[in-house]
Amino acid sequence: MSDQPAATLGILGGGQLAQMLALAALPLGVQVRVLEPDAAAPARLCAEHLHAPYTDPAGLDALAACDAVTLEFENVPVESLDALRGRVPVRPGAELLARSKHRAREKTALREAGAHTAPFVVIEQEADLDRALERVGGRGILKTSELGYDGKGQVRVASDAELREGWAELGQVACILEGFVTFEREVSLAVARTADGRLAFGPLVENVHRGGILRTSVYPAAVPDGTETRAREMARAVAEGWGLEGLLTLEFFQLAGGDLLVNEVAPRVHNSGHLTQDGGGVSQFEAQVRAVLGLPLADWSPLLPCAMVNYVGVEGAAPDGAPLDGAPIDCAPIDWAAIDALPGTHIHLYHKAHRPGRKLGHVNLVAPDLPTLHQRLAQLEQLIP
Ligand code: AMP
Repeated sequence: MSDQPAATLGILGGGQLAQMLALAALPLGVQVRVLEPDAAAPARLCAEHLHAPYTDPAGLDALAACDAVTLEFENVPVESLDALRGRVPVRPGAELLARSKHRAREKTALREAGAHTAPFVVIEQEADLDRALERVGGRGILKTSELGYDGKGQVRVASDAELREGWAELGQVACILEGFVTFEREVSLAVARTADGRLAFGPLVENVHRGGILRTSVYPAAVPDGTETRAREMARAVAEGWGLEGLLTLEFFQLAGGDLLVNEVAPRVHNSGHLTQDGGGVSQFEAQVRAVLGLPLADWSPLLPCAMVNYVGVEGAAPDGAPLDGAPIDCAPIDWAAIDALPGTHIHLYHKAHRPGRKLGHVNLVAPDLPTLHQRLAQLEQLIP
């Protein structure tokens, strides 16, 4: 590789995912430019920061001058995508984004591609509530079709009265009612596809949520035989059916026996794939950069057992004691030295101000074997509130 940049990659959004995409792109000789309105955005530290709204014409011109543009969040304004159309490849493209940011369209398109999902009913008006719960099995989760993430915009319902109350609570906006799934575990897997149709897969990872937010991911997932193959088959069907260019992560419910239902998809790297940074193989971030720029691409899986624990802001406490901005908050500090001293840990901080419920960083853990991984993971979890 020459010492000239191989390419310039534009990213819509400058949060921690853009930060870690940039950190993976730089060693490949790729320069990164992010369009992001937040002055304190994490990616500003390692990429050229176009500090402007996502719809800013000059900012979009600068992105259009890149070799390709990708994204780190799905709610990219349609105007931004329209302004880039025909000037630079945007991967994934507008059509795929329109699906993945809208739960009703997403679930419908997943089924059309041949992936399995929980039963669901689209709720757009009062009349749609009639018999809806019965149709999904008597118990369900009502979710807003747009702008829900990390368990926000969701209500669990077990009776018609609760369904009606829940819909009112969510502001009577467009929703889907999903049947409640009794699952054994939650797993995820990412797939990447280049514009010329080359496919590669990430590892099957097991996820545990707390309060609607991902708490830990573990590789390998403790799933019945054949589960990973099923996950790959569904990922392939979606990537090919939807004409994916870039990387897409699928979150699944694994049922007893190993069957999988897709819960949702994200058209990008995902929190559950962070452990690929330190497991010894190619990371999900490098995989997205490679897929978007059409570079050589192979399956990316950790070489060793590994795990990730999220570091999320807690109520009334700034565990690292010193927020980058905002008022200092009284707190019991996190013992970062103890975390650092645990064999196999890798700390990743995003340089964001502390706020309850906000993802501020994560710690990856890698171990020579599974028993050691689980033993150290238990210790690590004690150290992260
Ligand atoms: P979501 O925002 O759709 O990822 O939902 C957040 C979390 O709620 C999931 O990770 C599951 O733990 C749980 N959940 C979501 N949908 C369902 C469902 N249909 N049945 C049971 N649990 C669910």
